[in-house]
Amino acid sequence: MGFDEHYECVVVGGGPAGATTATILAQHGRKPLLLERSAFPRQHIGESLMPQTYWTFKRLGMLEKMQASDFPRKESVQFVPPSGKDSQPYYFTDRDPGEWSITWQVCRDTFDKMMLDNAREHGVTVREGVRVSKVVMDGSRAVGVEAVIDGQMKRIGADVVVDATGMAGLLAKSLKLREPEPDLKNASIYAYYKGARRDGGRNSGATIIIHTPDRKGWFWFIPLPDGMASIGIVAPPAYLFAGRGDDPTATLTEEIAKTPGIASRLDGAERLTEAFVTSDFSYRSSQLAGDGWVMVGDAFGFLDPVYSSGVFLALKSGEFAADAIHGALSAGDPSGERLGAWGADFTTGMHLMRQLVYAFYDPSFSFGKFAKAHPEHQDSIVRLLIGDVFNDEVGRVFETLGDWMTLPGAVPLKAE
Ligand SMILES: Cc1cc2nc3c(=O)[nH]c(=O)nc-3n(C[C@H](O)[C@H](O)[C@H](O)COP(=O)(O)OP(=O)(O)OC[C@H]3O[C@@H](n4cnc5c(N)ncnc54)[C@H](O)[C@@H]3O)c2cc1C
Repeated sequence: MGFDEHYECVVVGGGPAGATTATILAQHGRKPLLLERSAFPRQHIGESLMPQTYWTFKRLGMLEKMQASDFPRKESVQFVPPSGKDSQPYYFTDRDPGEWSITWQVCRDTFDKMMLDNAREHGVTVREGVRVSKVVMDGSRAVGVEAVIDGQMKRIGADVVVDATGMAGLLAKSLKLREPEPDLKNASIYAYYKGARRDGGRNSGATIIIHTPDRKGWFWFIPLPDGMASIGIVAPPAYLFAGRGDDPTATLTEEIAKTPGIASRLDGAERLTEAFVTSDFSYRSSQLAGDGWVMVGDAFGFLDPVYSSGVFLALKSGEFAADAIHGALSAGDPSGERLGAWGADFTTGMHLMRQLVYAFYDPSFSFGKFAKAHPEHQDSIVRLLIGDVFNDEVGRVFETLGDWMTLPGAVPLKAE
């Protein structure tokens, strides 16, 4: 089909999902090409990690780099109810004191660059500033990509194309596979602050989730290096934007003032940036792979920011996909069936997290009340919060938790 170059595998997008996929392919002895439209470091939301990222970091050779970083250590998460009363944090190390129970709060510009540099160190060919305009299809089989490189349109052939383009969703949008989460229509306004008050001791690196007093939305408080903090509100767009004017920074400031749990932490703090806005972020694709292509990370789906599961699922899907691609290429069979063989396991784990997300948004649910009523499920809740979702045991909590919430059906995953 007239290609300028050919690679076994082209990964489109150099965020955590793309970098993970490409690095593990290189560890398998493959020589992938990764194309990233931005020049790193670049700004990105999503700073709070889940402890279960530890195992992927270890596999990627990233663990020592994370341990040597100045990223704050995150040992717990705390949910503050609409009353504003402080609640008992969930300490990950109380359940398992291993070093894998402590994770990091990262600046994504620095972290994503560390991941991409690590991919390069493993032998991945990375080209930044290259925006892929389309995936080239031969019928329903992906056979390469088109991108402008050094001012010229180039066609690069590939046995497998990995869509790791995040919310941009190159393939999911062109193949019309993206489905919104029916009852999670939210938007977010966020900004960065310096000098916010932090709790002390083992709580100093905690993520704090604070409901607004009217329960219309919730805030995240994420401590970052150099006394910085990421602060954001999540709420339905109708609430955040209707009748407010068009200054999101003013809206964020107004909402902070109305929520004592966050206002008191920001008393005397300096806002370092204007507010950023993002919306329509809860969706999933109805297909994960097809002949010659596979999706990873946000390109496949994103649930919701509340449990900080995005980067973890991006890393995990990158791991699953890279192993499947290596197996498919070794067998000379890059069919959708082989490339997406991990889809059922992955979406089962993702669905556990999804149920916990719906519980959080259900007005009848509160972590405090549930813990009091069902102390026998505390362990499962902590396991979900650390990202321990790829096993059968923790799902049992939903036999009880199911009574506390309404759960719409999930998008079925089409056979490849
Ligand atoms: C409000 C909000 C808060 C969040 N908070 C958290 C959090 O605290 N913790 C957490 O874990 N997650 C959080 N997330 C989710 C997290 O940001 C994502 O899940 C994570 O970044 C997914 O990684 P990715 O590699 O799939 O996508 P991305 O990190 O988005 O990477 C995709 C890359 O693809 C590139 N790209 C796109 N299109 C093209 C193209 N055509 N050609 C070449 N390159 C392209 C982009 O430039 C980008 O670098 C949050 C999300 C939202 C919306």
